[in-house]
Amino acid sequence: MFRSQDDPSWLFCMSRVLGVETMLGNRHLALGNRVAAFGNGARTLGGRRAELKNRVPPREQSSGVRERSRRVEEQSPDVREQTRREKEQTHPVKTQSPAQRPHHPRQTPPIHPTLSAKSYTSTHKKNDTIKTGKYSSREVTNVYNEPIFLQPEFKERLWGGTKLRELFHYPIPSDQTGEAWGISGHANGPNKILNGPLEGKTLAYAWDTHRQLFAEEEGEEFPLLVKILDSSKTLSVQVHPDDTYAREIENQNYGKTECWYVIDCEEGSEIIFGHHARDKQEFAAMVENEEWESLLRRIKVKPGDFFYVPSGTIHAIGAGIQILETQQSSDITYRVYDFDRVGNDGEKRELHLDKSKEVTTAPHIDPEIERSYTIQAGLKNETLAEEMYFSVYHWDLDGSSQVLKPDPYTLVSVLKGQGEVLIDGQSYPFTKGDHFIIPATVEAYQLKGKASMIVSHSNKA
Ligand SMILES: [Zn+2]
Repeated sequence: MFRSQDDPSWLFCMSRVLGVETMLGNRHLALGNRVAAFGNGARTLGGRRAELKNRVPPREQSSGVRERSRRVEEQSPDVREQTRREKEQTHPVKTQSPAQRPHHPRQTPPIHPTLSAKSYTSTHKKNDTIKTGKYSSREVTNVYNEPIFLQPEFKERLWGGTKLRELFHYPIPSDQTGEAWGISGHANGPNKILNGPLEGKTLAYAWDTHRQLFAEEEGEEFPLLVKILDSSKTLSVQVHPDDTYAREIENQNYGKTECWYVIDCEEGSEIIFGHHARDKQEFAAMVENEEWESLLRRIKVKPGDFFYVPSGTIHAIGAGIQILETQQSSDITYRVYDFDRVGNDGEKRELHLDKSKEVTTAPHIDPEIERSYTIQAGLKNETLAEEMYFSVYHWDLDGSSQVLKPDPYTLVSVLKGQGEVLIDGQSYPFTKGDHFIIPATVEAYQLKGKASMIVSHSNKA
């Protein structure tokens, strides 16, 4: 279910969450604690993941409030330790100029400082002393102590526009560009790594050969795909299969559950989300009879809205909307209706009615998700979704914030502003439109600056 930012029920839920935390004497449950809560609650993230995997379908889930309060209870033995750490964190770490930095002896030559992601077209000179091929994967892992910046891949679409250039200064290929794949290991648009020991390699290569960077997570492909979409026209009405269907029918590893954070949109923009048919038979009949107006459910959107879209959900992003999409790494789409449009080639795009009918959930189920947030020095961390395949957060950075042990590996997309990631005294600047991964080999890092970011991690490990 979507939650708009000023939805009163959301505010109510949030106050309940805060109430629980206050009761436990831990009112400012900081990000570090939240991460620790994941680990401590089930002892390991794997435990938490097992819990997520075993979760029943969205409607039957226990409420997020209960989930969250349980996690807080489970970690109670460590609360004092957390509070101590939290106090330490509120004293910002001093930033030093390179000349002031203490020398950290390294076993290997220093890693080349990261590029700012503005270097999409840069002919950055590689540090010849570090070539991946010279080291075993273990050695590369030992020295991999920096964010992995990625070069976005652009996709021209019938419904695309120019906002990816206007909002993010991306070098888009045409005025009909619909998608920037910011974090992708998918074969249809694998990102190139812009810095560090694996510079020039793809994220898919890093996944295949350096799984330590991803906490040894299992899976044939990098599990998530993060895109920014710009729809100058509405997308086709579509639906995606789940994992089982994707494997059995399409011979692909993953189905597609996705979620959207609305970055910006025109006044009055709307999406299609769900349908009004009471069962599969009625859904099939209404599709056959092209009863689109009575079948499709339309919802107005505004910036900051968030939608969780499980596989099987009928949906379409309407015209004039820019969203950040976090999804399973899949490119399987079944088109139900395309508004009878013709493409640049004068042809209508293919529809996939039989498969759509098979995979569509009927009646439609609104997922129950709740937004809540925690605040620590310099960072407001809003939870958008903690679901079976991924967890997604909106981070509002204003100042300096220490992130203790990150999730095994963390995906970051910068929507606004700029700042830097500080790791062991090294600064890695980032700006609006950048996408990077903090690998599992980074123990802790500091964020500094003023920026709005969408942050996620896989729940598959
Ligand atoms: Zn979709």
